[in-house]
Amino acid sequence: MLFGATGDLATRKLYPAMLKLYEKGNIREHFAVIGTSRHKIDDEKYREIVEKSLAKESSNKKMVSEFASHFYFVTHDVTNVSHYANLKAKSEELDKKYSLGGNRVFYISMAPNFFGIVAKNLKTQHLLSDNGGFNRLVIEKPFGRDFDSAKQLNDELSAAFEENQIFRIDHYLGKEMIQNIEAIRFGNTIFEALWNNRYIDNIQVTLAENLGVEERAGYYDNSGALRDMVQNHIMQIVSLLAMEQPVAFKDTDIRQEKVKALRSLRVYNVAEASTNFVRGQYGGVGNSKEYRQEDGVPKDSNTETFVAGKLLFDNYRWSGTPFYIRTGKKLADKFTRVDVVFKKPLVDIFSFPQSGSTPLNANVLTIFIEPNQGFSLMVNAKNSEQGFHTEPVNLQFLEDSKRTKETPQPYERLIHDVLKGDGTNFASWPEVASAWKFVDQIRRVWDIQQPMFPNYIPGSMGPVSADELLARDHREWVYKLNK
Ligand code: NAD
Repeated sequence: MLFGATGDLATRKLYPAMLKLYEKGNIREHFAVIGTSRHKIDDEKYREIVEKSLAKESSNKKMVSEFASHFYFVTHDVTNVSHYANLKAKSEELDKKYSLGGNRVFYISMAPNFFGIVAKNLKTQHLLSDNGGFNRLVIEKPFGRDFDSAKQLNDELSAAFEENQIFRIDHYLGKEMIQNIEAIRFGNTIFEALWNNRYIDNIQVTLAENLGVEERAGYYDNSGALRDMVQNHIMQIVSLLAMEQPVAFKDTDIRQEKVKALRSLRVYNVAEASTNFVRGQYGGVGNSKEYRQEDGVPKDSNTETFVAGKLLFDNYRWSGTPFYIRTGKKLADKFTRVDVVFKKPLVDIFSFPQSGSTPLNANVLTIFIEPNQGFSLMVNAKNSEQGFHTEPVNLQFLEDSKRTKETPQPYERLIHDVLKGDGTNFASWPEVASAWKFVDQIRRVWDIQQPMFPNYIPGSMGPVSADELLARDHREWVYKLNK
């Protein structure tokens, strides 16, 4: 059952993802989708919408139309309790027709203020099957705008669904290379043995976008980079990097370790928040509008379009090793990467003052998440010139473009996971709660301080303060623009 079936997310992401699952045989005969929204359309019109959204996905018209024949439409206002009877009748009818065994997925692809009410009505209006089939609820982001609102939403959801029935989407968790973090860490002795504060100097996570707010200004201005990117995607990536090895590679074990890691993240007081987090807002240059001139953005907006920060874990593995994070709009390029900077050898035996040798570099493991998928490892080696000089060499593995293209997109993976009942790549409530508690402290401090905006130019890597954040610790970002 898909709530918000005529919306942007459904047509741009969900139908294409479901088609891929159909093509690969992951869903076939035994599936039916009831699309709902307030639109007054019939099954035929709805199937046209679905097929239109797939025009670029496949040239196999027959297959697309077979796929679309599994879609049904019920006109439905989620706030009107009496409308749920139609949905119930339709789901029972389709359950029989497609032999679904009472297995139901409720996907809420609507504005977040509807999440709670839909969950409640599904329960009170008896839409949940009770014949042994599964009932799973899929919730889009954002999950609250601070800890209190997230808790209230979670209370509403958990009045109707158990935690293991709730799948909170964070589409970053559906990305190939995010899932690969666990493979790299726990599949390789050479990394996991060194994965701690004795050998790692710092870890850097960068989620850079080169576009501005585009048509999302209304939403974005109420949110800002801290809520939009840090609380969810970045905290999820950080927890995968910081967690202990799970007992087994399964959702309950992985979640347990992520939560443990997040609980040892130091929640900052006012002074720490002011020093360890910096924010930015893009200015204009040439034809590129400054943020405050974008359509739908108030001229005096203090919303941040850039965040950089230092995170500290108070636990045995990470004490003293900072995690630096940054994200922003209108930056130099669009990419996501993780740089793990190892400590330099304690003694550099190659450094003779008279030899003019170059000092050893730190080993850096870079995990390229997007658009390139792969990783590289920077090691020191002797160069082939006369005398003895070391130089950094890069061992690199990048997926070729064909494989990258064939890699399942996040929504395909995540919907498949929901159908399998695998919660590994979804955010659990304790993770979301810890992330909000951390982020709320930063927000509280920022809300009472007046920022000096705009403070970075489009095409840069953010404000100077983001570089100063690391310079203070005698460090620098591994990825930087060539000056
Ligand atoms: P949208 O506004 O395009 O679609 C909302 C849908 O809800 C429409 O089908 C609309 O008809 C329906 N609707 C609205 N009020 C209704 C009511 N009272 N009863 C029944 N149906 C009603 O929104 P969207 O962009 O598709 O976003 C959906 C969700 O996904 C949101 O939570 C959003 O934050 C999240 N999300 C969207 C994107 C994206 O790229 N669009 C990305 C990430 C997260």
